[in-house]
Amino acid sequence: MKIIHRVSLSVSFNEKQAFGALGIQLDEGFSSFDIEESDPRWPQVAELIEGFQAVDIATTKFSAKEIRHAKRLQVAADNHQGYPEPSDDFGYLNVTYDCSNHCPECGCGLVQKAPFRIKLRPKHGRRHIFGLNWVFDELFVSAEAWKQVFKPHGLQKRPVLDAKPGRELQRFVQLSIPQTDLGFDLTDYPSETCPHCGRTKWEPVSRGFFPKLKGDCDLPLFKAAPYFGSGASAHHALIMSPALYRAAQYAKLRGLSVMVLDGD
Ligand SMILES: [Zn+2]
Repeated sequence: MKIIHRVSLSVSFNEKQAFGALGIQLDEGFSSFDIEESDPRWPQVAELIEGFQAVDIATTKFSAKEIRHAKRLQVAADNHQGYPEPSDDFGYLNVTYDCSNHCPECGCGLVQKAPFRIKLRPKHGRRHIFGLNWVFDELFVSAEAWKQVFKPHGLQKRPVLDAKPGRELQRFVQLSIPQTDLGFDLTDYPSETCPHCGRTKWEPVSRGFFPKLKGDCDLPLFKAAPYFGSGASAHHALIMSPALYRAAQYAKLRGLSVMVLDGD
């Protein structure tokens, strides 16, 4: 497993000098670079990140061997193409979801009631799997990928509509991902409880192993019960069987990021 930090900051003379002294050459203006946590310079870089209040986003890259031996994998779209429509004033919420149990403060409680609507972009055409901004627990796949990989594993599809006039798209479908009540061992993971609705949400996990699943499930792809997210955003984690992940890899489907679960 490699933990990689993407560091982004506004660089002026002081930042340029400080990072330059560690052999990290930055141009003045907005700049970003990647560094592995195993890099001997990491402790000093971490101090500079804190001192200069740089943005630090950690991701974890697992080896092929770690993925091969995992019993379950947490997956997510590694690219987000466009927004659920209508995106103005978050109009998609009432169009796409039953909001009767939704808390606008923490984002928990949305239940999908209708197809997503999207504005097709040229980039969509080059993707087998993509997500939408603001929607982190759904996967959209090409119709071909669904037929070739997901359908044989028993996954149902939902239609996706174009934003206007709301016609069904032929090239893409949404995977219908079952919701379960399975939880994770989230002891020691940071969480917050919403003062408005009282529900608890955990900070998104991107560094190290994903939390261990409590219980088992034979579904090839499902949503676990806990909510993750920050601010008014909440999503469920998606858990995939290694068999389905291997099938997606074998078919050379691009667009998934993957984490190995703790204890697997
Ligand atoms: Zn709430």
